[in-house]
Amino acid sequence: MNIVIIGGNHAGIAAAIRIREEHPKDEVIVFEKKDEVTFVSQTIPLFLMGYQNIHSQANYATPEEIINQGINLKIQTEVISIDAKKKMVFYRGENDKIPRYLYYDRLIMATGSYPNLPPTGGKLNETLFLLKERKDAESIENFISEAHQAVVVGAGLVGVEIARILAQRDINVTLIQSNHRILDKYLDEGSALEVEKQLEKEGVTLLLGTRVDSYHTIDKKIWSRPRIDVFTSNGKIISADGVFMSVGFRPNSFLLAGQVETGDRGAIIVDKYMYTSDPSILAIGDCSTTYMDLTKENIYNPHASDAFRQGLIAAINCHEKKKEIMFTTGTYKFNMDGFTIANTGITLNQAKKFGYDAEEVHYQNRYLARKGNSGYESTGTYYHKAENISKDYSSIYLIYEKKTLKILGLQVLGTVDISQYVNIISLAIQKGVTVPEVEFTDFFFEHGYKNPLGFTKILAALVRKKERECES
Ligand SMILES: Cc1cc2nc3c(=O)[nH]c(=O)nc-3n(C[C@H](O)[C@H](O)[C@H](O)COP(=O)(O)OP(=O)(O)OC[C@H]3O[C@@H](n4cnc5c(N)ncnc54)[C@H](O)[C@@H]3O)c2cc1C
Repeated sequence: MNIVIIGGNHAGIAAAIRIREEHPKDEVIVFEKKDEVTFVSQTIPLFLMGYQNIHSQANYATPEEIINQGINLKIQTEVISIDAKKKMVFYRGENDKIPRYLYYDRLIMATGSYPNLPPTGGKLNETLFLLKERKDAESIENFISEAHQAVVVGAGLVGVEIARILAQRDINVTLIQSNHRILDKYLDEGSALEVEKQLEKEGVTLLLGTRVDSYHTIDKKIWSRPRIDVFTSNGKIISADGVFMSVGFRPNSFLLAGQVETGDRGAIIVDKYMYTSDPSILAIGDCSTTYMDLTKENIYNPHASDAFRQGLIAAINCHEKKKEIMFTTGTYKFNMDGFTIANTGITLNQAKKFGYDAEEVHYQNRYLARKGNSGYESTGTYYHKAENISKDYSSIYLIYEKKTLKILGLQVLGTVDISQYVNIISLAIQKGVTVPEVEFTDFFFEHGYKNPLGFTKILAALVRKKERECES
């Protein structure tokens, strides 16, 4: 079979490598318009935090390594159109004067996403910045070296991360969010408030419940560098050296516009086997929809974790529909130096919106301090009423359905990284496990000072207490 994959990042490369394993006789051609493959965007924040070496390690495979696996990878080659009826793709390499074409038996769309860019009038990489690609990291690094003030628009995952980094790098930063809480798609009120406090402590000014009305760029003849004024819905004008736009991503599905069905935000609708409405075309990663069983929706959920899973499933199914994908739980971990946020499942707000009779319990750990070579360090052992308390803490929020006690979501955050709990609970959600079931699962003995119970037992006790309170 002749399989064409468009896009050589996480989804496309995951599919190509797995096709080699599943269907060794197939011809696999991957088109990638850039000169690199497998670029990890999560390394951009690390690079900006000063881990300069990370830039040379931001790809987990080189084009040569992919080609050596028997994959016909064409880098610096852009697919410019698709004729789905004739099963043809038209592409142009760097040195091609006219487009070339080829026929496919199966086409796998892995064209990813673009950052949303509302009209601003700002000049890209001068007064206006996006975070997605390697070149974005480089222009932001230049900006940081000469700027003093920045505005970040949108307090989602990327916005929170970049605001924090800018503050750490001594830039006066204002984070504007239209919602009244940051990270509202990922966290509930309690956990979001904790992160907001942390951001303010680190020097980020928050403007919540505020929309940006317009922007005005000021020429560099007046200032040493160009500036941009941001006009907000509540009458504020914030003058800055640059604006960071982090208002989400949109699917890069244009090549198939009008040829396959599209859904949420224009993402290509796929079934549980990664097939589109065209029986010869599959779509994976950020250009496609993702099924969320908890809310029974095919949503746009641009996560690398889903891009990989979808790539592997498409590879298994590219001859015939064999294996359904396990639904997404939207599991995510934040890459914040010294402060971790991770979540899985749905928030309490979302649960209520989708008709669940849901409840939330919260537990906060404090950690014992130990005198180490570099002063007091956290021991990683949580305490109850101990004397020697470090500043380290972690917070856990569990969301469950009252009637069935099924787990619906988990949010963890704090200075101690307990994000692995989120992976355990993601599996529990996918399997429909209840709170009492995880309470009695055989996890290793996780003792704490004056507290011999691990996190699942502590949370289960809180759930029982809450349910008793509700009954009385
Ligand atoms: C700063 C940042 C941090 C992130 N952190 C996380 C995280 O912690 N966890 C997480 O799960 N997700 C994270 N994400 C999201 C994650 O990066 C994406 O979900 C992931 O990159 C999607 O992979 P993909 O292969 O579907 O698409 P993309 O990475 O967008 O890749 C698509 C590829 O297709 C190529 N392409 C597009 N059109 C064509 C064409 N016509 N011809 C040839 N090639 C083409 C592009 O050049 C690109 O290489 C983060 C994103 C950003 C920006």
